[in-house]
Amino acid sequence: MARRQDRRRTDEFGTDQYGTDAYGTAPYAPAPHAAPAIELRGVRRTYGRGEATVHALRGIDLALAHGSFTAVMGPSGSGKSTFLQCAAGLDRPDSGQVRLGGEDITALNENRLTELRRSRIGFVFQSFNLLPSLTVEQNVMLPQRLAGERQDRGRARELLSRVGLGEHGRRRPGQLSGGQQQRVAIARALITRPDVVFADEPTGALDTRTAHEVLALLRQAVDSLGATVVMVTHDPVAASFADRVLFLAGGAIVDDLPHPSPQTVADRMVALTARPVGAAA
Ligand code: ADP
Repeated sequence: MARRQDRRRTDEFGTDQYGTDAYGTAPYAPAPHAAPAIELRGVRRTYGRGEATVHALRGIDLALAHGSFTAVMGPSGSGKSTFLQCAAGLDRPDSGQVRLGGEDITALNENRLTELRRSRIGFVFQSFNLLPSLTVEQNVMLPQRLAGERQDRGRARELLSRVGLGEHGRRRPGQLSGGQQQRVAIARALITRPDVVFADEPTGALDTRTAHEVLALLRQAVDSLGATVVMVTHDPVAASFADRVLFLAGGAIVDDLPHPSPQTVADRMVALTARPVGAAA
């Protein structure tokens, strides 16, 4: 989805994708009555007009609980990128609602939406998106800075040690490996205790072993910190770290696999790509 820069809104730092946030050092369990971390109701998004109209999302309904880890898969062009951008408030649906922690974000004006993204959504991207001129620790605290919150160095250090980089806070991203940079991005995504962390192909640029380490950290963020993670991936092994895999085809959710294993995910993907175009709707 990094290729869709044209559809992204950027803030004054050009950083809104990651000028959001994430988490904390203490587990937090939502109250039993709490609203879902994120909820989509009848979300539709089309591009173009007339005969050229593309129905990128045809009416997405879903609710994801706090403390859940969901993978989203689907063939190229199935709507994954559009889904992620609408769910994360980077793009607006044509109709339907997106509620973040119970709040309808589709009703917000642009400024409020930007504020909300910075403080209540965390992002992890394939390309890490760290600022090279800042130290690792400053990168982790950046969402707090952008949100106008107090920069919590103690929390940043705690998160860095959780991702195994406790000794690297004063380094610059360029001095770290790709896997280490992605771990910094995870710490950054957690710093503000967001409602949801969106991860967009977070292991796409990593080798298999490093990818496993990064996925295990996302899993740990869910299990130990109560984070809510939504991850778009095309890798069945990556998807198997989630609690549940949603499959998109033709702009609709066409399958929902709980307790995924690499094999069951791969089998569903094969079945999906064999599906005739348009059958999803
Ligand atoms: P995926 O991420 O699964 O590859 P996308 O969400 O990028 O799918 O795209 C879903 C559909 O919407 C595709 O048919 C794609 O060509 C179309 N689409 C996406 N972005 C645009 C755009 N900016 N303009 C026109 N069509 C678009």
